[in-house]
Amino acid sequence: MEFIAQSLPATKRVALVAHDNRKAALIEWCSRHRELLQRHRLFATGTTGTRVEEATGLEVEKLFSGPMGGDQQLGAKISQGEIDLLIFFWDPFEPMPHDPDVKALLRIAAVWNIPVACNASSADMMVQSALMEVSFDREVPDYLGYLAAR
Ligand code: PGA
Repeated sequence: MEFIAQSLPATKRVALVAHDNRKAALIEWCSRHRELLQRHRLFATGTTGTRVEEATGLEVEKLFSGPMGGDQQLGAKISQGEIDLLIFFWDPFEPMPHDPDVKALLRIAAVWNIPVACNASSADMMVQSALMEVSFDREVPDYLGYLAAR
C-alpha cells in the first residue's frame, strides 16, 4: 500500500461519541473546552450529541444512535475524509452489544490516520496541541492508486 499526504483543515470536524457510563465525563470535558469547540464543527452519535447540546448549548450534527448504526455512519464519514478528529469515550468496564461497531470505528480511524482520544486526558492534550487550529498534513492510504494498480 502506498501513502499520500492529505491535510486536516484548520477548522476541524470533530466526532464525539460516549458510551452511557462515560457520557457525563464527555459532557464535563465538552463544557471545559466549550470556547474552543465552538470554533470547530461537531458531529456525534445520536444520544451523545443530544446530551452534549442540552448540557453545553454547542451545536452538534447528530447521526443515528451508536447501536442503531451511528458508529458506522461516523466510520463512513472518516473514510470519506469528512471527520478530522475522533473523541470516543468508550466504556472500559462494560461489554456492549455493538462492540463490533465500536471496534470497526476505532479501526477505520487508525486506517485513515486521524487523531483519536479515548479519555479526557488524551482529549485535553489533543485539543491543546499546536496543530489543533492550523491545517496540517498527515499520511493516508492511496486508495485510488491502490484501485488503479489492481
Ligand atoms: P449514543 O451512541 O451516542 O447514541 O449513545 C454511542 C455508542 O454507544 O456508540
